[in-house]
Amino acid sequence: MQRRDALKAVGTLVAASALRPERAPAQPAPASAGLIGPATVETEIVRLRLRHTWTTTMSSSDYRDTLHVRYTKDGVTGVGEGAPIVRYHEDAAGCRQAVESVAGFLASADPLEFDKTLGAVLRRIDGMWAAKAAVDIAVLDWVGRKRGLPIYALLGLDPADAPVTTFSIGIDTPEITRQKVREAEAYPVLKIKVGLDTDEATIAAVRSVTTKPLRVDANEGWKDKETAIRKIDWLATQGVEFIEQPLPAAMLEDIAWLKERSAMPIFADEACLRPEDVPGLAGAYDGINVKLDKAGGILQGYRMIQIARALGLKTMLGCMISSSVSITAAAHLSPLVDYADLDGNLLIANDPYQGVKVEAGKLVLPNRPGLGVRRLKR
Ligand code: MG
Repeated sequence: MQRRDALKAVGTLVAASALRPERAPAQPAPASAGLIGPATVETEIVRLRLRHTWTTTMSSSDYRDTLHVRYTKDGVTGVGEGAPIVRYHEDAAGCRQAVESVAGFLASADPLEFDKTLGAVLRRIDGMWAAKAAVDIAVLDWVGRKRGLPIYALLGLDPADAPVTTFSIGIDTPEITRQKVREAEAYPVLKIKVGLDTDEATIAAVRSVTTKPLRVDANEGWKDKETAIRKIDWLATQGVEFIEQPLPAAMLEDIAWLKERSAMPIFADEACLRPEDVPGLAGAYDGINVKLDKAGGILQGYRMIQIARALGLKTMLGCMISSSVSITAAAHLSPLVDYADLDGNLLIANDPYQGVKVEAGKLVLPNRPGLGVRRLKR
């Protein structure tokens, strides 16, 4: 098939600009890697329905739209997903446009040289990090499938090192909080969303039905250091292991003040988006929460984890509300981290894929090539 014809076959899913000959890349597909034909990129916005209305200090919603990407070359298809983050002014339509803007570049770029190819994608898309994550995951899934290796094996990781994941409980009434905690019986560690005036009632509701270890996430909800240290001192008496983002990301000096006095480790989430953010946080936080959607994908997440480890910071992998595509992608990195909060797929009712599993709380990685996800028939 001629290159132009192959591109046309993608239909409306590829940006129109990529189809115009004058805008198409001049270079043919590299022959040296033994690859033939151009790659095609398809995008789809998928609406994921939440089992419970999901409330944090930032928002409340019954569904989330994520962007799914299918990258096909030489008869092999890799899938990827990115969850747009409203806090960073991202939405699914904008992410879709961003991916379509690099479809022409990806048509002729070499996926086996993924460090270079994905580095170029990072530079070519302005912002929209969830879009970059979706492309990164799809390309690495393709590489794993092509090489016949799970992504953890491409990265040289031992799947037996994958940690336990927490199960997250969003903000709700004490009655519904108790119900959610009972439904989470299979998970040995819970992550509780706090950050409001109702924190004490929330933790009391949780503690009325379980003695499990807890981790808490304030999502920048407390606005001054005095409130934060008072809450942290109390939470330390309630079997809480650590706290995530107690104050707004910009309050770095106040976080350092808290770290000096806190009875528990403090993790950065909203303050730590990408690899370049990590060194500046080392004095103020004890650890970082890495999310593929913030970072721009698996390779960027890998870099963040390695930088954090070199600086003596604890590491955690987190997620947005996503299907098993994105969660499984993050799980392939999880043998590298101290903690995991990879439950976004467990919170939805219509996951289109099956991938990583959770057994007695522990993440169990699929040992199939690439991500190892399978599409479910619905
Ligand atoms: Mg968080």
